[in-house]
Amino acid sequence: MELTTHEALAEDLLGRVERAYPDAVERVKRAIAFAVQAHGAQQRASGEPYIIHPLEVAIILLDLGLDEDSVVAAILHDVIEDTPYTHEDVREAFGETVATLVEGVSKLSRVKRKSKVDRTDLDQEQAENLRKMVLAMVDDLRVVIIKLADRLHNMRTLGFLPPERQRRIARETMDVFAPLANRLGIWQLKWQLEDLSFRYLEPDRYYAIARLVAEQRAQRSAYLERAISVVRKRLDRDGLHYRITGRSKHLYSVWQKMQEKDRSFEQIYDLHGIRIILNRELDCYHALGIIHSLWRPIAGEFDDYIALPKDNGYQSLHTAVIALEGRPLEVQIRTEEMHQVAEYGVAAHWRYKEGPTGDLRFEQRLNLLLQARELPAESENALQFATALRGDLFAERVYVFTPKGDIVDLPAGATPVDFAYLIHSEIGHRCRGAKIDGRLVSLDYQLNTGEQVEIVTTKQGGPSRDWLNPHLNYVATQRARQKIRRWFRAQERDQNIAQGREILERELRRLGFEQASFNEIAGLF
Ligand code: MN
Repeated sequence: MELTTHEALAEDLLGRVERAYPDAVERVKRAIAFAVQAHGAQQRASGEPYIIHPLEVAIILLDLGLDEDSVVAAILHDVIEDTPYTHEDVREAFGETVATLVEGVSKLSRVKRKSKVDRTDLDQEQAENLRKMVLAMVDDLRVVIIKLADRLHNMRTLGFLPPERQRRIARETMDVFAPLANRLGIWQLKWQLEDLSFRYLEPDRYYAIARLVAEQRAQRSAYLERAISVVRKRLDRDGLHYRITGRSKHLYSVWQKMQEKDRSFEQIYDLHGIRIILNRELDCYHALGIIHSLWRPIAGEFDDYIALPKDNGYQSLHTAVIALEGRPLEVQIRTEEMHQVAEYGVAAHWRYKEGPTGDLRFEQRLNLLLQARELPAESENALQFATALRGDLFAERVYVFTPKGDIVDLPAGATPVDFAYLIHSEIGHRCRGAKIDGRLVSLDYQLNTGEQVEIVTTKQGGPSRDWLNPHLNYVATQRARQKIRRWFRAQERDQNIAQGREILERELRRLGFEQASFNEIAGLF
């Protein structure tokens, strides 16, 4: 019997699960059956059955090495948002962890709907705020990784949408999701998200660079083979354990480098290069010595990211040399652990948890990734790891939406009053009530990340004295407090002036002055 597309895909997925997590096969089968039933006759824009999408997302996560809960959650990731099934249903069938992951992904979809991303281009600050908001929203980083895989599959199938939506989604992917992947160090997701966005945002440039890279690759492959065999000989002679691979720069990073360094395509040396992966850090410097003694290094092209890791924890030695036939060759040198972190970032943590490497230094490598973000390094397991990373970065801020979909960044504990004063002093003074996601709340309500805040104002009037009472928590920001105090001071001044004027008038009348001359005298004050 011939299998339909989605049955074939389910078989493929189950085969991979069998290899990675043999004990999880039954549970994954159950999840597939659940999702098939839940999504029923729903279709993708391509006209394919909807179920194709979550199955593809699950495969992306398996390839990244995420754990079985993440894979099950990926299969169910659109069930709460897009079908009649609830959090409860998922929890009963697959347990608390999976339900929480699916709920987290759904929450992010809802947040996205509130943002203005779908309506206009984001400015850089709003994009950064949205990235922060996404990270602050989740208690478990696996939620973000599932979301990124979801976005990757949506980008792969973007061709089925109308051009205007393609452009908007690509813009958002470039501004929000690719930087998130980068922040989490997941190179495998970052480069694919960037190249797919690039293709829809600047198709002419994308295809021009793609053609040049492909031509060069054809010319270069024989050359690279020869260079690799020279390098092998020397590494073998010194008894090093290593593997060498060829590598190509991804298209968007070629374009970025051309722009940043103001170079033509021909002046990009590291389009295709070689990568040497060794066992120990010291061996990396040994290999670098070999490369630099074989061929003359090109000035300004050497970077030691082992001693000075990049912000996202990336480590490697980069150099470019004038190699065979006087042609430039780019070489990257790193350990196996550095390689895992470079390719998979925080996802490497789950890879490692399930994997057989059992290398303690690998854990240290990941800790380095954490330290690079100035976070505590001691994390016992994947969950604590995720929480530590998230918590320390974002515990003190909340990110909320204005009714127009702009994101406002406030300290934790902020209330609708703080929000109102941040938008405008007048809105603060005249604030009488607030709606959170359309529901009325009291003014001392503490805002949560992802909520949409609407302020109810009166036509005129001022703040309440209660707002300054330190025992009532109406105000958490210094900014709001100052503006309220200033309003009362201005009030008091006006009252003082009015009172003074009254006293003066009375006195003048007593002394027999006429009203007409009062203004002249008052003008003296
Ligand atoms: Mn989805």
